[in-house]
Amino acid sequence: MNKTRVRVGVVGGGAAGIMAAITAAESGAFVTLFEGGERVGKKILSTGNGKCNFGNRILDPTCYYGADRTWLQECLSQFDTDATVRFFAASGMLIKEKNGYLYPLSEQASTVLDVLRTRLRTAGVQVVTGKKGTRVEAGFTVYTGDEPHRFDRVILACGGKAAPKTGSDGSGYLLAKELGHRIVPVVPALVQLRCRETFMKEIAGVRADAVVRVLSQGPEEIAERGELQLTDYGISGIPVFQMSRRVNYIQLHAAELHPHASEPHPHASGKASQEVEVSIDFLPDYTLQELEDMLKRRLAQAADRTVEEFFTGLLNKKLMLLMIKLAGLKRDVAASTADRQALYAVLQLCKAFTVHVTGSNSFDNAQVCAGGVDTAQVGTDMQSRLVQGLYFAGEMLDVDGRCGGYNLQWAWCSGHIAGRQAAGCSASAGEIDTK
Ligand SMILES: Cc1cc2nc3c(=O)[nH]c(=O)nc-3n(C[C@H](O)[C@H](O)[C@H](O)COP(=O)(O)OP(=O)(O)OC[C@H]3O[C@@H](n4cnc5c(N)ncnc54)[C@H](O)[C@@H]3O)c2cc1C
Repeated sequence: MNKTRVRVGVVGGGAAGIMAAITAAESGAFVTLFEGGERVGKKILSTGNGKCNFGNRILDPTCYYGADRTWLQECLSQFDTDATVRFFAASGMLIKEKNGYLYPLSEQASTVLDVLRTRLRTAGVQVVTGKKGTRVEAGFTVYTGDEPHRFDRVILACGGKAAPKTGSDGSGYLLAKELGHRIVPVVPALVQLRCRETFMKEIAGVRADAVVRVLSQGPEEIAERGELQLTDYGISGIPVFQMSRRVNYIQLHAAELHPHASEPHPHASGKASQEVEVSIDFLPDYTLQELEDMLKRRLAQAADRTVEEFFTGLLNKKLMLLMIKLAGLKRDVAASTADRQALYAVLQLCKAFTVHVTGSNSFDNAQVCAGGVDTAQVGTDMQSRLVQGLYFAGEMLDVDGRCGGYNLQWAWCSGHIAGRQAAGCSASAGEIDTK
């Protein structure tokens, strides 16, 4: 008896597309994976500083932004961290865990890509590199330039706009849009923030455990603690990365509300930019009262010291000298002769150091992007609610995770669901005979 296999076309050979292709092929489909670049999975190689933090033991919808939490929970429960671990273990990869963060034992991102490539081969996926999907017609025809390719089902996994050198240039959004999908505005996320203050140059290179807080009126407090990195143009490090998508959206919405306020926002063509005030607490383990008590004790015990000596050891020296200067003090005068209010102002600056964020670095520097295909138009089976037989996976959707392996986990999870579902149902149009 003739056996028919569903033909599945996957557009985009990143983490999500590779997972979707493997799963669909292992579920019995005849799968073709189109990758616009010269090789699949290029971005995977740069993840986790080359070590690839591919998942995290702590996984729940609060680790993600964009999509509705209930929708996310239903998706994540279909392919969770255990499932990811089982998938890679079954592919022969040994795994290392650090505080819940998952890496290949080799600590080489290339190991992850190697096992995925092997599994693509053993699953029988036809991998076509150097061919970009330029148009998709429902039914389905995927065009790579003038060349048409017929499929029963199509999975779009083209990524977003982040790190475009790895191939994700945003072209997938156009494919989705042409098929009637709404695209939630896309902004860089997990990215550095740029500040107006020229004194940033004086403290560039300093790292500090700090709480970074956005001072804006909004329904939720935006505050993150972690290792802050000061650069000559602004602020970086994990806490800044975690809040960058929300700062970019605040600016985007402000620009939409006040289109003529100031210079153009870098990620909203033609729209005006609004600064966002950010407050940094460089001494989060001390209250201002505790610091003021300490100041009083020091004044009583060590009033013969210079202002610089007086504050020694409180913060990194470069940072401390800047605080002293901003408080209007001279570093080499005796603390006993210094203005008391200015001495207190130094402590206030340590607790609430305000900078004005003018924008973020561009998509070139972003690890992911926020926004994308509106998940309200996509089921928890990753199928489009508008076009039957069309599926989505990965960063192309309006789902972005926090630092810590969550974005790759989303790629594996959504890719797996899309692959399984696309292969699962019986073939409709254009069944092929594989006998
Ligand atoms: C520097 C860096 C470090 C990161 N570190 C981590 C980390 O440690 N942990 C973590 O969880 N996440 C990390 N991320 C994020 C993570 O890599 C991404 O979220 C994830 O790879 C997204 O997978 P994707 O398959 O959806 O998209 P992508 O990886 O962007 O893949 C999309 C693919 O589709 C191809 N493509 C695009 N358009 C077309 C088209 N029209 N036709 C054919 N092909 C097309 C592209 O060439 C690309 O290969 C990092 C990202 C970067 C940039």
